[in-house]
Amino acid sequence: KITEAERSASLKKMNILCASLEAERDLSHSIVHIDMDAFYAAVEMEDNPKLKGKPIAVGSSSMLSTSNYEARKYGVRAAMPGFIGKKLCPQLIIVPCNFKRYREVSNKVRAIIEAYDPDYSPASLDEMYFDLTEYIKREYKKQMHLNVCLKQESAVMDASYEVCQSCSMNVPREERDLLAYNIVKEIREKICAVTNLTASAGIAPNVMLAKVCSDQNKPNGQYQILSTLEAVNSFVCSMPVKKVSGIGPVTGQILNAIGIHTCWDMWEKRDVIPILFKESSADFYMRVALGIGSTVVKSDHVRKSIGTEQTFREISQPEELRTKCQELCQEVVEDLKLRNMVGKVVVLKYKTTSFDSHTRNHSLPYHTADEEVISNTARKLLDAEIAAVAPKPLCLRLMGM
Ligand SMILES: [Mg+2]
Ligand SMILES: [Zn+2]
Repeated sequence: KITEAERSASLKKMNILCASLEAERDLSHSIVHIDMDAFYAAVEMEDNPKLKGKPIAVGSSSMLSTSNYEARKYGVRAAMPGFIGKKLCPQLIIVPCNFKRYREVSNKVRAIIEAYDPDYSPASLDEMYFDLTEYIKREYKKQMHLNVCLKQESAVMDASYEVCQSCSMNVPREERDLLAYNIVKEIREKICAVTNLTASAGIAPNVMLAKVCSDQNKPNGQYQILSTLEAVNSFVCSMPVKKVSGIGPVTGQILNAIGIHTCWDMWEKRDVIPILFKESSADFYMRVALGIGSTVVKSDHVRKSIGTEQTFREISQPEELRTKCQELCQEVVEDLKLRNMVGKVVVLKYKTTSFDSHTRNHSLPYHTADEEVISNTARKLLDAEIAAVAPKPLCLRLMGM
C-alpha cells in the first residue's frame, strides 16, 4: 500500500525530473525510421512470383520469421511455430530462410539511405534509422541559391551553393518538415524502383517516435510527427506505451495493470512510477510519457577496421617474414587512403604451421595512414614474435594485418 505522503514526495521528485527532461527536449532534427514491409516474405515472393497472392511464411515448422499479408489475415505471425501457422491456415506455404539473399537486398536499400545520411544506423536487415537534418539543410541551401541568389547579383553567379555566403542555411521549421516528408517519399520510391519491394517510414523529432511512426501507415505508407511541441504532445497523448521499443510485453502488462495504457496515463500516474519500478528507470518512463527521445542515430555500421591477410605454404626465414609483413602493410595503407580513413591500432595476426592462431596489437598515440609508421609498428610486433621463439624459427602459414 502506498501512503499519501509517499505519493506526494514521489510526485515532487518526478516533477523535478520532468522539468529537467523538458529542458533537454530537442525538436531540431528530422529523424527517420524505415521498415521494409514483410521483408523476408516479400523477397521470397519477388524471387519466386508463383508465391504471389498466396499465404506464405518464411521459417521452419518450429519457428516462423515473417509472414506475408495474405498469411496475416489468418493470424499467421512472426515468432510463431510453423505447425501452428499450418493449423491456422492449412494452405500456408513455408519457405526456408535465405539470409544471404536478404542481406543482398538489404545492402541495396542501405546504399540508397547512405546517400542521404552516411551515418545511418541499420537496426536489422529490414530496418534502419537515419537523420535527414543535414541533407535537408543542403537541399534548402541549393534551392535558395537557385531561386534567390542566382536571380540577384551577378557577383554570386559563379559561386556554387556550397561556397555561397549569401544564401541561408537556416531552414524554417515548416520548410524542414515539408522537405523531410517529400524526401522520405522519394527514398521509398527509390527503394521500390531498385528492389521492387515496399517500405514504410516514420518521420519524427527523435528516434523513439520515428520508430512508432513507421508502424502507423504500414504497409507501404509513411507518417510524420511535425517538429512542434503541440504535434508531439497530441501524438504522444494517445500513444500506447506498448508501442515504445524498450517496453516489452511483460512491462506492458504491469503498466496496463495499474491503468497505464497511453503516454498520457503514464504522465498522470507519474507519482507511482518510482515506487513500482527501479528509481533508475524513472528517467526512461518519463521520457516515454513526454515523447522525449534521442536525436542521435547511432551508427554502428561504420567500419572499425581495415585489413588483409594471406595464407602461404610456409615461411620461416625472418627476412621473408618481414617482407611479407611489409607487403601486407602496403596493401592496408592503400586501402586506408582509398577510403580516406586513418587507423590507430596496428594488429598483427598469424597462424603457425602447427595451426595456432595469434594476434598481437600496438596502439599508436594518434590516428594515421602513414606507411612508414604503420609498417615500422607492424615490424616491431613481428620481431617480438620471432625473438620469443628463438632460437627456433617462427614458421608461419598465414599472416594478416
Ligand atoms: Mg519489417
Ligand atoms: Zn547562394
